[in-house]
This record gives sequence, structure tokens and C-alpha cells, in this order.
Amino acid sequence: MTLPKNFVFSDPHSPTPNPAEESDDARVAFWEKQAARLDWAEPWHTAHRFERPRIVGTDDDGLPEFSVPEIAWFDGGKLNAAYNCVDRHVEAGRGQHVALYFEGEPGDREVYTYARLKDEVSRAANALLSLGVGKGDRVVIYLPVIPETVIITLACARIGAVHSLVFGGFSAEALRFRVEDTGAKVLVTTDGQNRRGHVVPVKQNADDACAGENSIEHVVVVRRTSRPGRKTPAGVPLSPSDKGFRSKDEQAVPWTPGRDVWWHDLLEASSTVHEPEFFDAETPLFIIYTSGTTGRPKGLVHTTGGYLTQTAYTHALLFDLLPETLDEQGEVRPDELSAENDMSKVDSTVHWCTADLAWVTAHTYEIYGPLLNGVSEVIYEGTPNTPHFGRHFEIIERYGVTNYYTAPTLIRSLMGAFPNGLPASYNLASVRLLGSVGESINPEAWRWLRDNVGNGEVPFVDTWWQSETGSTVCSPRPHDPQFAPAGTFPDHAPHTRTKPGCATRAVPGVSTRVVDENGDDVPASTQGFIVVDGIGPSMARTVWGNPQRYLDSYWKHYGERGWFLAGDGAKVDEEGDTYILGRIDDVINISGHRLSTIEIESALVTHPTVIEAGVCPVEDELTGHAAIAFVTITDPENLDEAGLRDALRAHVTREIGPIAKPKDVVVVRDIPKTRSGKITRRLLGELYQGRDLGDRSSLQNEEALDHIADVLTRRR
Ligand code: ATP
Ligand code: MG
Repeated sequence: MTLPKNFVFSDPHSPTPNPAEESDDARVAFWEKQAARLDWAEPWHTAHRFERPRIVGTDDDGLPEFSVPEIAWFDGGKLNAAYNCVDRHVEAGRGQHVALYFEGEPGDREVYTYARLKDEVSRAANALLSLGVGKGDRVVIYLPVIPETVIITLACARIGAVHSLVFGGFSAEALRFRVEDTGAKVLVTTDGQNRRGHVVPVKQNADDACAGENSIEHVVVVRRTSRPGRKTPAGVPLSPSDKGFRSKDEQAVPWTPGRDVWWHDLLEASSTVHEPEFFDAETPLFIIYTSGTTGRPKGLVHTTGGYLTQTAYTHALLFDLLPETLDEQGEVRPDELSAENDMSKVDSTVHWCTADLAWVTAHTYEIYGPLLNGVSEVIYEGTPNTPHFGRHFEIIERYGVTNYYTAPTLIRSLMGAFPNGLPASYNLASVRLLGSVGESINPEAWRWLRDNVGNGEVPFVDTWWQSETGSTVCSPRPHDPQFAPAGTFPDHAPHTRTKPGCATRAVPGVSTRVVDENGDDVPASTQGFIVVDGIGPSMARTVWGNPQRYLDSYWKHYGERGWFLAGDGAKVDEEGDTYILGRIDDVINISGHRLSTIEIESALVTHPTVIEAGVCPVEDELTGHAAIAFVTITDPENLDEAGLRDALRAHVTREIGPIAKPKDVVVVRDIPKTRSGKITRRLLGELYQGRDLGDRSSLQNEEALDHIADVLTRRR
């Protein structure tokens, strides 16, 4: 991305110093202060322990071999995650505050106050206990986005069981891998799910996934589709504990007597009273599988005290819950280091993270973060374009959503659906903050969302983080001067103040740097690797069942320095702000020039015909790599493929330079993506080169691959 030459802030950064950049002691002290956001039954004795990788020998090639690093935070402390998310708000007199607004795809709705959520989580905890689930047992949760998903997740946490959520759209194969890898005792699933206006059976997938060798003792089935919506025939809303209504389709759900249990039958026998037990801070809370864009999914393990601390803090920081103070110049500033929230902000927030609950984004900013901070939030089942593309805007209006946190892929599809901007009939005035996560956001998409949903003026947090880091590492803050109202910095036109697509800098308490292969800082505006050189407490502790892979994937590259290699390329601009350039494997090296696929995609989507673009490297005898662009376009019926190819090559040449122009442009119906909306560039490259695709189990739209394979065969 190119920034205007005169680009300068009068005050580029908030004056708050980052404790992680002062010293390791200041960093640890900061997190100890933030841990006070949680209720602890017992205090910790050791705030932080980090055993860096040490050289323990040499391998056959004479290269050093390292020990696996060990990380612990708040050792000795005891707490309960579910108590912190739910009970303590009720105890503080906020039981009637809304925790969840649920929107089902068929149009059914439910509201859970914190008091109701406490009853349901307690009852669910008793139900799991009645199945023999206890501390340390793994529970795989294969559900769509329905209230039970949140409730059962929190119930696991409440009894010390380790949850692992699996995207409801995954195949039996993808589920089987996770059931076997976690060694789960219980699998929770549904009879079916609502997707794009249809009922999709699910239980059979669950059965197929459990067919091999595994430790599953029970398959618990939440009734979702074998009853109409969530209402009785008389139109009375059902609570999840309802047991009254049996549909005639019930027989259609495949059933293994003895192993399979209806969730509502379990709830019927369970009380809403449950005394939480308090667990060690380092008790595993969940296992999250990376989407596998770069190979076999890794089960990252997150533990309780550290994960919750950083989650609660970053949610408050980025979604604007912190109190404000006056700085030395008399200007209003948020107190970025505060360990307390401004309760009037908490009370007026309606948070909406649009991610599927199985994604790490949802664990942190849809389940734990918002509930730890006691705000109201929206969850919704289905897809943004069913029944129509205005669904999200109707939801924003209905609940007065204040924070809209979504992914670049969704923004791009909205841009395609509303090429002339959003109809003025939607009232989106409640929105006061936008956010995005999952991929580098194309500046075009950033501007579209901010102009159309944020009235051209609200702050936009572009949060960079990973399943591994557990919560946000780099992001602009909502109070950054770049989001100040027009006129605040009169020397600069508003469009030169903002940095669309820039993750800016590390949040307080963590630090990053962008380095080359040897670990030396790269000069400004040069591409390097981003590493976390001062970790926060929500860093993943290991890869489930495979500590060696934890070392090999993240730590051994910079060895005894103890830097975490994130696997993304990045650059730092003249002002010290970090741009994420996509994963290292997505870098294209054309004639020795390292280019980012994201930058080429961003250039392509600024062309009026292109809705979405996926760019991948392929081998090229002459140039090393060549870029191939896959695009979806506005008017595929009247396609002149050769004409479009020339036009797009010329367009990229103009936007970035001739070196970046794609060697080929392929028009497709849909760009293949992972469940979390990431373009699978590796698969695109393999398809184009006619290679075997390997693991494709994490895809959201597998059919897109088949279609592209057809298109490519027809062209050959
Ligand atoms: P796998 O590691 O198996 O390929 P994954 O990396 O897709 O899976 P996640 O942990 O969900 O799984 O995604 C984290 C990655 O998403 C980051 O490493 C980065 O590449 C990308 N990402 C997330 N947020 C941003 C952002 N704001 N800007 C740029 N890239 C982002
Ligand atoms: Mg990753």
C-alpha cells in the first residue's frame, strides 16, 4: 500500500508508554495489575515463569537442538472462568443486564440476561457432571451458533473440563481428526442446523466422526431443527431446557442407544444450582485447532488465568471500555493502563463479533472477553446473506449494536452486494466502533466499511493476532489521533490522517519487532518477519500432545532469544507503525522482489469489475515465482476473459508496478476460503499447477475448488 507523501500525524501515538517496552519486570507487573480484573479465589505466588528454549545438543547436520519452552502465568492462583464470566455480574447486582441477544436463521430470537445465563450454565454444568465429565476431560463441541454453544462452553469451563469447539460446517473427516486428537470423552452436536434457508442434517456427521477408534463415551444431541425454530406449536418460546415438544422428525435422527443422549433430557434432570470449584491458573481451558491453511491443524492449548486476563484487558482496551482521564495538555485520553472499566461505557455497549463461535476470534471476543467485561452482545446463526444481504444491518438496527467486529472477507462480499453503497434506509447510527480480524484488510474494504457503516468517522480497530497468541497483539486504539473528528488536526486533510489496513503497534503489555532471518531489525518499510519478543499471558502453552511441534513451529527459529515467530510477514513504516503483509508462505518472490499477495489482491479489488481476488505464487522458470490472480467479478455473464486479463494486468501495473502484474487471471465463481474466511492461497497455487491438494478439510466452501478445477481443465 502506498501512503501519500505528506503523510504525518501531529501526534502519531498516544503518549501512554508500553510497559512491555520498558523492561520485562514492568511487563510482568502490568499483567499482575490487569489480573485484578478477574475474581481470584486464591492469589498467585509466581506471576510469570518463562523457560526459554535452551541449546541441548546438536542434530546430524550440526545445527543446535533446543529444549521446548515453558510458559506459566499466575502460578498458584485459583479461579473459575465461568464464575468470572457470569456469576460475579449477578452478585454485583447486574443480573438483569442482557448478556446475549440471539438471532436464529429462521427468525427466532432469544434474550439471556446474566441471571438467566447463570442458571443455564449451572444447569448445563450439572448435566455434564451427570455424564461423568470432570476436570481435565475433553469435550468436543460441534454446534452452530446457538445459545447452547456458549452455555455448554462455559459449563465445561465451570467444571474444569477442556472444551474444543469445531465449526458446525466442517465435514465428518475434519471432526473425526479433532475427536481423535483431543481424546474427547463427550461430543456435543445437534440434530441439524439451519443454513442458507435449509435444514442441514448434522447428527450423521457426528456418528461418522465417532466411527473409528476414540474415547467417546457419549454423544450429546441438542435439538435444533427437528422442531420448528425454537417455539412450541402454540408459538410459546422454548427455553433450551424445554422438554415438551417432540417433532415427528425425531425418528429421522440416527441414534445409538446407550451412547446418544438428548441434551434436553439431561437438562430436565439437572438443577440450576451449582457451586463453582476454583482451579489452578494454569488449568487448560480449551484446545483450538488452527485452520490448517499451512498443513495439518495444530491443537493449541490455552490455560485459564493468563488467557482470561489478557482477553478481558484487550477487549476493554480495543472496544473502548476504559475510563478517560485528562493528560498533561488537558486533553481527554483513555487511561490505557487502567485495570478497571468505565461502567457507563460497559452499560451502553452492544458488542457484535460476527465470527462463528468455533473460531479463536469468537473464543476471545465473543465468548470470554465480552462476558468477562459484563457487556451485552449479539450472536447469530447462519450466514450474512440469508435471507438477504441486508441481514447484518437489520441486526445492527434491531439491537442498537455499538461495536461491529467482522472479517475482511465479509466486508468484501458486502461491497460486492452493495456496489453503490448501503441504502439510506438502514439506520446505523448506534455504531461507534468498527473492527476487523482474520486477514490484512484491503484499504478499499476498510474505507467502504467505515464510510457505509461507520458514517465515515468512527474508530476502526484492525486487530492482528492468532490462535497462538490467544488475543490481540497489534492494533490501533479507538482513541488514536488518526480517528479524531475532522478539524482536530487542521493541517491534515482527513484522508491523510488515517492508516487503513495498518495494525499500528503492540498493545500495552506485549511487544513485537520485525526482523530478518538473523534476528536483526529490518530497516523501515522493508519486509521482514514479525516476532513477539515480549509475550503476554494469553500465549498458547503448547500444541496438544505434541510439544515438539510447538517448539519447531514457533520457537526454534530464534532459539535462546526466546522470540515467538508468528509466521507472518510485516513491515514497519517511518513512524514505527506495523503493517502485516500476510503469512510468510504467501510471499511472492518475483525476480528477487518480495511482494505480498495481499498487496496485489488489494490492488485488484480497487478495479471496478473485481469483487474479490485471491493471488498465489506459482513456480516460474524465468522469474522464480509468478503471481496468478483468481477473481470474482460483478458481471460474469458478459465476460471477455482476454480483455479483462489485459485490463487487470494494466491496473496492477499502475497501482503497484510492472513487477507485480499477475501472469494469469482466472475468473471464478467463488474464492476458496477457510472457515474463518481466509483465502487458501496454497490450495490455489496447487490447483493451478495441477498438483494434489492434500488436506482440504478446513474449507468453508469446498465446492469452490471443484469449480476452479473445472475452469482450469477447460482452459487447458
Ligand atoms: P494455520 O496457522 O493453520 O494456517 P490460521 O493462521 O489461518 O491457521 P488463525 O490463528 O485463525 O489461523 O489466524 C491467524 C492469522 O490470520 C495470522 O497469523 C495472520 O496471518 C492472519 N491475521 C489475523 N488478523 C489479521 C490482521 N488484522 N491483519 C493481518 N493478518 C491477520
Ligand atoms: Mg496461523
